[in-house]
Amino acid sequence: MCKTCNNTGGLSIDNGYYLEFRPCPDSHCDFVRDDSDLERLKARLEQSMRESA
Ligand SMILES: [Zn+2]
Repeated sequence: MCKTCNNTGGLSIDNGYYLEFRPCPDSHCDFVRDDSDLERLKARLEQSMRESA
């Protein structure tokens, strides 16, 4: 469990107008991003692009 980012993988910085997301600066951060959903979505997008071409 990373205490710097609370295991979110980064920090939200409030700039007043918008929130900026910075990757966790802690070199000991043990956060592991789960990209499995993103990879599935990308594969589906590529497939539908091929089918419409
Ligand atoms: Zn962290």
